[in-house]
Amino acid sequence: MQTNIQQLLEKRTFNESEIVTLLSVKGEEMKMLLDKALETKLKFLDNNVHLRGLIEYSNKCRKNCLYCGLRKDNNAVDRYEMTDNQVFQCIELAQKLNYGSVALQCGERQDKHFTDKIEYLVKEIKRRSQGTIGITLSCGEQSEQTYRRWFNAGAHRYLLRIETANEELYYKIHPKDSVHSFKKRMECIDTLLKTGYQTGTGVMIGLPFQTTEDLARDILFFQQKDVAMVGMGPFIPHPDTPLWQYRDLIPSKEERMSMTLKMIAVLRLVMPEINMVSATANQTIDDLGREKAVVAGANVIMPNLSPQENREEYSIYPDKACVHDTPEQCYNCLDIRMHTVSHKILYKEWGDSVAFTKRKQQNETTIKQ
Ligand code: SAM
Ligand code: SF4
Repeated sequence: MQTNIQQLLEKRTFNESEIVTLLSVKGEEMKMLLDKALETKLKFLDNNVHLRGLIEYSNKCRKNCLYCGLRKDNNAVDRYEMTDNQVFQCIELAQKLNYGSVALQCGERQDKHFTDKIEYLVKEIKRRSQGTIGITLSCGEQSEQTYRRWFNAGAHRYLLRIETANEELYYKIHPKDSVHSFKKRMECIDTLLKTGYQTGTGVMIGLPFQTTEDLARDILFFQQKDVAMVGMGPFIPHPDTPLWQYRDLIPSKEERMSMTLKMIAVLRLVMPEINMVSATANQTIDDLGREKAVVAGANVIMPNLSPQENREEYSIYPDKACVHDTPEQCYNCLDIRMHTVSHKILYKEWGDSVAFTKRKQQNETTIKQ
């Protein structure tokens, strides 16, 4: 069996059943997979870690995803939207801490006040930082026109997880109504790619009803779409959501963590030059989760810049790591944590996806010829 895995690890492309085999490894074979992924990352991207200072802009959401604490019908949450000044203070903090990029994330809304506000904030962040701060948005599904406006305002990366590439599973974790549409989610990914964003997507790992085959197909989906970045993390059941009733069906914390590491490692082999986030959810279920994900192949971390008073209310899942840490504490802690696993944080840089940058250059060369 060991030789099979060794042989498999020498390949560059994998079919679904080979990915399932890699996602099923344990013990010594899992170590071989993780070692190969680290070797691949170091070869293509070095030991650099990029930062995205996370601004949890608002927890108001029009959706009712069955897994998320911010879902519209969860009345236990006090809803907030940060003021413009609070956002600008986060930017000042990002600059003080030498973070080259921020990610503005929030519940999904499509009303005019919201779409105008995001456009204004993006422009203002660019103006105030004299273009030095890179901006990632993660504000859900929008029309092509809205994505374009935000892109033209200066956002150049967008993160929209598909949550799962399996339509049947999608409807087990979302309500079946006109607001939640698998087809629309997929179309949004295509629109983001077409608009010119460095497009990121991803899935949750360890969902009830999810199989290893589903996860293998998620990896093939990322590859097929040729996305620039991926954020994957363990599913963490939230007591105020409908999926809580299935908590006994989900794998243990250890199993979810180990499957997350294997997903990251296999994807690093499949797409060596993309950006991959080590999600905060990793650290929530395992004290060393973020470091383990970086050693398995991730190269992006999202330290929280949000004001203390809002953090408890951005409760996607319970017991989120670092909720009580100040941004300054996060800064020191992350720097030390990355050093302990022989990685180095690149400050003052946008940290764009190498895969994206190379593809863009190739396309430009082809057009010129
Ligand atoms: N509203 C936007 C969206 O859905 O794309 C962005 C914010 S949403 C809170 C960001 C991500 O949180 C989702 O894409 C989902 O994968 C993740 N998430 C939500 N609930 C979760 C849970 N219970 N456990 C782990 N991740 C969760
Ligand atoms: Fe809203 Fe995003 Fe949570 Fe779904 S995952 S309920 S869209 S914040």
